[in-house]
Amino acid sequence: MRPGEMAVTFLGTGTSTGVPLLACDCAVCLSTDPRDKRTRPALTVQGPEGTILVDAGPDFRTQCLAQKVRRVDACILTHTHADHLFGLDDLRQFNFQYNIRIPVYGTAETLERVQSVYDYCFKTTQEGGGKPQLDLVELIPFQPLMLCGIEVLPLWHWHGEVRVTSLLFNKTFAYVTDVSEIPEETRPSLQNLDTLVLGTVRYEPHPTHFHLEQAIEEAKALGARQTYFTHLSHYFSHKDVSEELPKSIALAYDGLRLAF
Ligand SMILES: [Zn+2]
Ligand SMILES: [Zn+2]
Ligand SMILES: [Zn+2]
Repeated sequence: MRPGEMAVTFLGTGTSTGVPLLACDCAVCLSTDPRDKRTRPALTVQGPEGTILVDAGPDFRTQCLAQKVRRVDACILTHTHADHLFGLDDLRQFNFQYNIRIPVYGTAETLERVQSVYDYCFKTTQEGGGKPQLDLVELIPFQPLMLCGIEVLPLWHWHGEVRVTSLLFNKTFAYVTDVSEIPEETRPSLQNLDTLVLGTVRYEPHPTHFHLEQAIEEAKALGARQTYFTHLSHYFSHKDVSEELPKSIALAYDGLRLAF
């Protein structure tokens, strides 16, 4: 991979429950279309010098097996809801396999929460089978950093009352999930990109996420060449929603790969 190039893999595109939902017999949960099988939201961004993982939810290990993720060099957490965080312990296999520590990036608030949820990683206890070896590194919105040969610009947006980190990679590809409002100061960095990912969960309005109509409006306003929706619930049949969307917008699905 040459400087400036990157490859994105959607590890998961489902909402917090995953799809199918446990014990649900709706048409989408029973669908045989593989694009209606959605694990918890996460992606990898591979650059010339390594692979960045964005979020590590409860499906992280099986996502790595499904998408053949063989190594993670850095992890960025958008926020600390369970569907984005509760797979972080499984990073340890990459610690052991490659004898590396893994930096975990997040806002001060995120890192504080990681230290409390994964307290055993950050204090001396018996080693047992081995603990994740993680270095917590603070992200400051609008302060760019180089990671794995990729320029990463951290931004932020609202998810109800929670502030979530959005990310712009190489000024080309942005990931904005768990979003109910994009603040004015973030908007210019997301305008007219090549590819934009936006979260949306369902047709009906939702207190902490865009609903479909709102996400379509935002996608049009931000004007990316191509927008993908993620964090999708069982209210969305991939085939049915896809037929309603304009050409510049598509639903993401687990295993979708993009090259830049
Ligand atoms: Zn979420
Ligand atoms: Zn269902
Ligand atoms: Zn969330």
